[in-house]
Amino acid sequence: MARLKIRKKGDPALRAKCRVVETIDERILTLLDDMAETMRDADGVGLAAPQVGVRRRVVVIETDESGLIELINPEITEREGEQLEREGCLSIPDECGITRRPARVRVRALDRDGNMREYEGEGLLARAFCHEIDHLDGKLYTDAGTLVRMVTDEE
Ligand code: ZN
Repeated sequence: MARLKIRKKGDPALRAKCRVVETIDERILTLLDDMAETMRDADGVGLAAPQVGVRRRVVVIETDESGLIELINPEITEREGEQLEREGCLSIPDECGITRRPARVRVRALDRDGNMREYEGEGLLARAFCHEIDHLDGKLYTDAGTLVRMVTDEE
């Protein structure tokens, strides 16, 4: 496994629309492993492929509750409710903001074995699903429509 370089805001890779994964080959499996290692090393709860410069629809998420979740070609199939909570991004270090997200989402994605799986998340996990899947379309939490306001250190 290898630790990958995380691209920072301003890098064009973060604004690219990522391509669907057609074949889950060795490269995709290695990417998943490397992304998990990179996310853990950076103390993040999620990482999307464009954050490491790869324009593919691949995401890893890990919360204390969820354990490691690997998503290939993920799609949000249901959104319910609303939450206004704090969010940060490994590509936007030392900053955080309050975002508007659904309280609960359902997500459909392929796992590393090519099986279609469904996930349900609320709270932090719902935010992570939305945040990481947004990355695949070149969107950041600081974009209009998601960000309510940035949070200062004193808060
Ligand atoms: Zn992010």
